[in-house]
Amino acid sequence: MGYRTHYISEAKKLIGSEVTLAGWVHEVRDLGKLKFVQLRDQTGIIQVTAKQGREPDAALAAMSQPKETVVQVKGKVAESKMADSGCEFIPSEFIVLNELSAKVPFEVTGKVPAELDVRLDNRSVDMRTAKTAAIFRVRSVLANAFREKALSLGCTEIQTPCIVEAATEGGADLFKVQYFEKDAYLVQSPQLYKQLCVIGGMDKVFMTVPVFRAEKHNTLTHLNEATQMDIEAAFITPDEAVDMLEAVLIHCLTRAKEKCASELAILGRDLQVPAKIPRHTYTELVEKLNAAGVKFEWGTDFSRETEAKLTEVLGYSTYFITKWPTAIRAFYSMPVEGDEKICNAYDLNYEGLEISSGAQRVHKPEILINALQARGLNPEEFSFYVNAFRVGAPPHCGWSIGMDRLTMKVCGLHNIREAVLFPRDRVRVRP
Ligand code: ATP
Ligand code: MG
Repeated sequence: MGYRTHYISEAKKLIGSEVTLAGWVHEVRDLGKLKFVQLRDQTGIIQVTAKQGREPDAALAAMSQPKETVVQVKGKVAESKMADSGCEFIPSEFIVLNELSAKVPFEVTGKVPAELDVRLDNRSVDMRTAKTAAIFRVRSVLANAFREKALSLGCTEIQTPCIVEAATEGGADLFKVQYFEKDAYLVQSPQLYKQLCVIGGMDKVFMTVPVFRAEKHNTLTHLNEATQMDIEAAFITPDEAVDMLEAVLIHCLTRAKEKCASELAILGRDLQVPAKIPRHTYTELVEKLNAAGVKFEWGTDFSRETEAKLTEVLGYSTYFITKWPTAIRAFYSMPVEGDEKICNAYDLNYEGLEISSGAQRVHKPEILINALQARGLNPEEFSFYVNAFRVGAPPHCGWSIGMDRLTMKVCGLHNIREAVLFPRDRVRVRP
């Protein structure tokens, strides 16, 4: 016999049946002759009720455990007029699988709120709280929805290296690693590699990958290790790439709404799924800002404060920004023919936060070399990349969605760290 025959949510539908449950002691109430334990597993909570004289003495005695003790309970599901769920559990055996040997650092019931740092230091305890558990179920649904949509769009899933020789985003903010006799870096973005795959004829590719950025800032929306959901596709125009990004986001939100109703309720989140996402050029938004009296210079990037102003000016917070100034985008963004100061890059702001960036990529080696040099980068260091464009590179576009930021926004969280199991920031590298 295994540790459990059913989860609590299943057992609740089996009034009269003998089952074995396993989980954690959530709450205990001891009235002497009557003992109650709220037993919790991943699916819910059930009240275990034992009466002196009715249930075996050993079961009654074993029920006096501190909260968070791991137990196995054998017994019968019974109808109950007192319990909210309409049922309770009558134990025949109450078995402690692992006694506590330290104090639980904070209340899992959520009755006494704990500081985020304490929660992150004790993440395996924090994950048992209803809110944190809900966040990571939503995150899993989002990750799967991305995979599901990418596959249905005809993309092939790929894996690319995390250790690289050259910067992908242009030099700064890299974590250096000692790679035998030479220096190497943790990848800032899988960008160059997914491009090599579409050049290789895979046509459309996708992946979910960690990226590493040695940015020294400490913000509510940045991590030093983040997870990206990436797509790259050959023979598509920038407009078609934006269509794809729109379809993927809408699919992810739709799945979250369908599959995570109870999680979103726990998080107090009323998730809206847009039918369509408005598109504005960068220049148009700069004009709108200035017309509204917000001084903003063409050619600079939007700060978090300006993004907030944009929401005010537009009257909504989810939109695309297309056709950016070339100088402020990554070197591989394709300049518009005849108007090279603008490039075919695009961002997606979701509920006021940049969650995705992408571009049509430069597929002509000469333009690429110019772009590298214009940013003070040495084309020699990128020879493996540049040379790939000399031997049959189709036009292509791609983008990447920040999985952590998407989860943060879908769950309505204030701090990105809450959306990541074990966040890595300037000071935190453990657990
Ligand atoms: P930002 O301007 O907000 O710092 P970025 O433009 O540098 O972001 P990109 O290189 O465009 O970021 O990365 C693609 C996506 O990955 C971003 O839109 C964002 O959702 C996510 N992302 C980027 N950097 C981070 C980070 N440090 N922490 C968490 N998510 C990130
Ligand atoms: Mg970006």
